[in-house]
Amino acid sequence: MGIIRILPEHLTNKIAAGEVVERPSSVVKELMENALDAQASRISVDIKHGGKSFIKVADNGTGMDRADAELCIKSHTTSKIRELEDIFSIASLGFRGEALSSIAAVSRLTLKTRDRSQEVGTEMHLIGGRVESLREIGIPVGTTIEVADLFFNTPARKKFLKGEKSEYAAIAEIITTTGLAHPGVAFKFARDNETVFDYPPSSHLQERILQTHYREWDTHLLPLDTAQGGISIRGYIAGAGISRTNRTAQLFFINRRPIKSLPLSYALQRGYDGLLAQGHFPVAIILLDIDPALVDVNVHPTKREVKLQDERSILEVLTHAVRKLLLRGNHAPSLSFAYALDKNKKYFPRASEAPPEAGRKKEAARDMFRYPEVGKDALPVDLRAGEPDAPPAYDRQNRLEIKALLGQIGLSYILAETEEGLIILDQHAAHERIVFEDILTTLESSAPVSQPLLFPLTLELSFREAQLLEEYLTILTGTGFGIRHLGKNTYCVDATPPWLENRASGDFIRDFLHEIMEGKAERSLHERREESAKILACKARTVKANERLSQEEMAHLVKRLEKTKRPFTCPHGRPTFITLTLDDLDKQFKRK
Ligand code: ADP
Ligand code: MG
Repeated sequence: MGIIRILPEHLTNKIAAGEVVERPSSVVKELMENALDAQASRISVDIKHGGKSFIKVADNGTGMDRADAELCIKSHTTSKIRELEDIFSIASLGFRGEALSSIAAVSRLTLKTRDRSQEVGTEMHLIGGRVESLREIGIPVGTTIEVADLFFNTPARKKFLKGEKSEYAAIAEIITTTGLAHPGVAFKFARDNETVFDYPPSSHLQERILQTHYREWDTHLLPLDTAQGGISIRGYIAGAGISRTNRTAQLFFINRRPIKSLPLSYALQRGYDGLLAQGHFPVAIILLDIDPALVDVNVHPTKREVKLQDERSILEVLTHAVRKLLLRGNHAPSLSFAYALDKNKKYFPRASEAPPEAGRKKEAARDMFRYPEVGKDALPVDLRAGEPDAPPAYDRQNRLEIKALLGQIGLSYILAETEEGLIILDQHAAHERIVFEDILTTLESSAPVSQPLLFPLTLELSFREAQLLEEYLTILTGTGFGIRHLGKNTYCVDATPPWLENRASGDFIRDFLHEIMEGKAERSLHERREESAKILACKARTVKANERLSQEEMAHLVKRLEKTKRPFTCPHGRPTFITLTLDDLDKQFKRK
């Protein structure tokens, strides 16, 4: 007896929906792509509850007639390709004919559309992909799609959605990113009936950048514009003056499609060879235009990844163009399309940084490794002023007790004697452990020490960054940061923990957020504190390898390590010291 069945369409659509529609932002992305494919010059997006309960995307594009409206919500219906060959030269953003049917299958969808040939428009209601009603409606040319109760009929999927704020941030980010690829199109975004942004149409990418939160890069950006062998590369790269500790500040577009591509990122990075410190990544917005026949976008349902023909030469052109631009000499603000755009319009205040103070800097560098008296200055090791009254409650066995300090070797290790024998201490790892525990202690206390900044920093964050900052705000302020919300995604940092010294900058907070972003998604408060302390300890002013320490400094470091709860490892789990016991020595010298 046959056991194989053809699945009914309502089921296959639900399954397909799982690939195309992961979360509210994927709905927004697909609907915006349709609007762009329909030549819209204005797109507006409205959401409620992070898009979970409601998403509306309205455009003034070509619209559809009644027959097309009835077809478009069925699976595998598209106006964009007709033959197999077409797949190999896609000029539109969509082509699979799957988005609308997939979205309809997992929501309550309303479609209103009218094309130029019609006097009246068409309105359709669908529930879980089934057409409930269809009628004529008087509307202007264009299309509006409302998606309510996403995943109402796939509860398992609904459960996996993140919180409203995080869905909101993802949506805001995708609209902004799409906006960069289409500067000529106006984008408007409202959340719970409040306008988040409203980008007017602009004539050039740089103008669009200024409308978005990427405007804070403006004075650092160098225009990239090159064409070679059928590809053109446009956009902006930042001079080596600003960089990030990860790749999140790199946006790549191929034929206006935002894509993720490590090879492109590597190629970009190669252009900066020798100009950026280890572990630093360039900031860039890069648009590649490549003959569609040389790009295969059909490798992933969400079209986020593409396959390039002759990728090597494309990468080389990119590296070369970046290199040439960077080596053109002085990269002092060569691009100042700064705020001259609209003189009447007040943009957010610019990120300001403390002016360089050469003298002080030098001094600070010299002071860096000096361990002031306990309670005197405010190095991290001194946050807990004075000696603790009683030894912390932990196992005595788990304690480190130094009998005598012997000296430093290789400018990186400290030798000391314990009851057991000899220990060799990694000075940097030890200091990180101390700072880490100090930060945690500060977090648990209610009165963090904090130092006002002479020049407060204004920080304009991306939506995702702002959402994370909100989440970690109490932790950051708990360690001594003074952070105020100025409006939208703009924040002001006006105080920092004393151990940060003059290292405070907008990038410090941003790097912190990005490192959090790269970690795991859900954390308990305790885990969040530990994670934050770990990241901050890494960024604090700590003793490094290859630094000469005075006897006094070593003594202080060792004494502070003795008082930590877990002296044996640095916060990342590497050992802070190794022991050579007397027993080992006896054996080595063949005494035993
Ligand atoms: P695809 O974009 O891959 O063709 P979709 O399911 O997203 O598939 O859309 C199906 C079809 O519906 C499109 O090919 C297009 O003809 C039509 N369509 C969808 N959205 C719009 C819109 N906003 N304006 C005009 N036509 C649209
Ligand atoms: Mg589409």
